[in-house]
Amino acid sequence: MRFISGIQPTGNITLGNYLGAIKNFVNLQNEGTFDDILVFVADLHAITVPQDKLKLRQNIRSLVALYLACGLDKDKCHIFIQSEVRAHTELAWILECNTYIGELSRMTQFKDKSQKHQTDGVSTGLLTYPVLMAADILLYDANVVPVGKDQMQHLEMTRNIAERFNSKYGETFVVPEGRVNKNTAKIMSLVDPTKKMSKSDENPKSFITLLDDINIAKKKIKSAVTDSDMLIKYDFENKPGISNLLSIASAIEEKSIEEIEKSFINKNYAEFKEYVANVVADLLTKIQTKYNEYINSPIIDEILDEGANYANYLADKKINKVKNKVGLGRKK
Ligand code: AMP
Repeated sequence: MRFISGIQPTGNITLGNYLGAIKNFVNLQNEGTFDDILVFVADLHAITVPQDKLKLRQNIRSLVALYLACGLDKDKCHIFIQSEVRAHTELAWILECNTYIGELSRMTQFKDKSQKHQTDGVSTGLLTYPVLMAADILLYDANVVPVGKDQMQHLEMTRNIAERFNSKYGETFVVPEGRVNKNTAKIMSLVDPTKKMSKSDENPKSFITLLDDINIAKKKIKSAVTDSDMLIKYDFENKPGISNLLSIASAIEEKSIEEIEKSFINKNYAEFKEYVANVVADLLTKIQTKYNEYINSPIIDEILDEGANYANYLADKKINKVKNKVGLGRKK
C-alpha cells in the first residue's frame, strides 16, 4: 500500500495545513499500514500564481524542514521536490489531452483563485492545476491520498481521469482513494470562521503559521472571532468560532471535543481561549525547536537527493508505460 501527498511551498504553512494534512501524513506513517510513503513539495503548483523566485527557493527548503519538524521520518518516507521529477509535467500533458476544459473550469478552486488574480492575469496553469495533481498521484500508483476537504473535488477529478484513461487505453493507473480526517478536514479562519483558514488570506490575523512568533500566535487565538452567548459547545452552524477553536484544541491534544467541553462547563471564553492559545503555543514551540535544528542542516539535501532518485525511478517506469499505451515515440 502506498500513499502520496504534497503541499505548495507558498508562504508560510498554516495550522490548517498542519492539522488538515501534515499531521495526517505523520499519523498514517506511524500507524504502519503503508509500506511506501511519498511526500513532496509541490513547487510546480506554486507557480500557477506569481511567485518571487528567491522566496520560492527559501519556501521549498523551509517546507522540507517543517515536514521533518512535524514528525515525518526520513527512514519511513521519501520526501522529494515535484519539479525534480520531470515525469510529472510529461504525464500532465498527456492527461490534459484526455481532460475537458468544461470540467476544469467548473472546479471551485479555479473559480476562487481566478477571481483573486484578475488583475495580474489568470494563468492557464491555474485552470490545468488539477491535471498536474492527477499526474502527481497517478504516476506512482498511489492507493491513498491524504488531503484536506478543499482538495477532495480535485481528487475526484483524478479518479475520473484515471478511470477514463484506463477505459480508453487499457488498465494503466490505480484509481486512488482520498483520505480526509473528518475532525480537521477544514480549519477555519480566526477572523471569519465561516471561511477556510488560508495562507493567502490578506489578513494575517485570520491564520496561524507554524513559524509565527509564539506570542503573536497566542494573541491571534485570543482575539479570534466567536459569539456572545458564553457557551463552550461544538455547534458549527450557530457557533462556528467556538467550534473551530474546539476542533483545533481537540486535534492537537488528541482529546475528544466532548472531553474539552466538559472541562469548560461554567467557564468563560477568556479562560477557554487562554487554554487553546497555550495548546497552540506548545505545539508551535515544539515544531519550531526542531525546525531550527533542520533548516540549515545538510541532511535536507541528503533526504531530497534520495527522494528524487526514488521518485524518478518509479515515475520513469510509469511514464514509459503510458507512452507505449498512447503510441508516443518508438516502442520500448
Ligand atoms: P495547499 O496549501 O493548497 O498546498 O494545501 C495543502 C494541504 O493542506 C491540502 O491537503 C489541503 O487540503 C490542506 N489544507 C489547506 N488549508 C486547510 C485548512 N484550512 N483546513 C484543513 N486542511 C487544509
